[in-house]
Amino acid sequence: MKDASSILIIYTGGTIGMRQDPVDGTLKPFDFSQIVDEVPELGKYAVKIDSYTFDPLIDSSDVEPGLWQSLASLIKERYDEYDGFVVLHGTDTMAYSASALSFMLDNLAKPVIFTGSQLPIGVPRTDGKENLISAVEIAAAKDDNGHSLVPEVSIFFDSQLLRGNRSTKVSSEEFRAFQSPGYPALAEAGINIKYNRSVIMRPEVWSAPLRISTALDTRVSILKIHPGITPQVMRYFLCGPETRAVILETYGSGNAPSSQWFLDIVKEAARMGKVLMNVTQCSSGTVNMDLYATGKALQKAGVVSGLDITTESALAKLFHLLGASDDNEWVKKRLGENLKGEISK
Ligand code: ASP
Repeated sequence: MKDASSILIIYTGGTIGMRQDPVDGTLKPFDFSQIVDEVPELGKYAVKIDSYTFDPLIDSSDVEPGLWQSLASLIKERYDEYDGFVVLHGTDTMAYSASALSFMLDNLAKPVIFTGSQLPIGVPRTDGKENLISAVEIAAAKDDNGHSLVPEVSIFFDSQLLRGNRSTKVSSEEFRAFQSPGYPALAEAGINIKYNRSVIMRPEVWSAPLRISTALDTRVSILKIHPGITPQVMRYFLCGPETRAVILETYGSGNAPSSQWFLDIVKEAARMGKVLMNVTQCSSGTVNMDLYATGKALQKAGVVSGLDITTESALAKLFHLLGASDDNEWVKKRLGENLKGEISK
């Protein structure tokens, strides 16, 4: 690690910085200086560490797109001062936030690493210390040319560095809370940190200035298809005036009921110009609407394949693309493109 590295730790809240309220026993956030007191190991690195604390600190269940806009603006503002950014964030919505940031930051040439923990940092068996220390080390790591080793938006958790927009929270109690079923880990922390260089994205031009796009259109809903779904629910989700786009969480390789009423509602929504995106309910694998007649029918009705995108990433991609244009046909085309490594294509 080079002496010159400097890292900004951005503290938004989450279990990592919580402690038990003596009155009602619930976990509530405490301030950043107390986190640093719990991790004296950070002082052993030849890295300059500054911090920025959001006010108020939040449980990430309260995250709204406004936080993503603030994060993107803060990273843009402080971009030239630091070699990398570590975002302390609750685990509940970390995959949504990391996905959103991946689409909002363009020409990223420095690491933006989200991390947090399952147990608060003050608890003896906490996973927060290791997560924070390794995230800082990775954020500061550079190659011989002085370029960051992982210039992506990622999540570090339980010794794995995962691409943010490929990650999903898979456990509410195991230390391995995140997985990236459709894409290999970017790095693994053992005795040494092993970087999987061939799967890490790099900017086309290292010196290009960071650009951010903070326009987000949140008129998107997610509908999980299930046996017994009714026409009323379908119509409410797909044809309501409040939505521009709907993520249909379908079965297996992108299948849904083949009943006429179901397809009629899908066609009606498509005629209304809604963006309909097909994302599988399976935790791994891809949508392939050519495989079964039921998938083919959805495709013919105007549904766009999300391929192997996660639901979290699909939501963020739609917010971002709808925010960029009023033209739903343009959005549909861009959904099929691999914008930030979020789909295998
Ligand atoms: N509810 C917490 C949060 O997401 C859980 C966590 O941090 O692990 O903020």
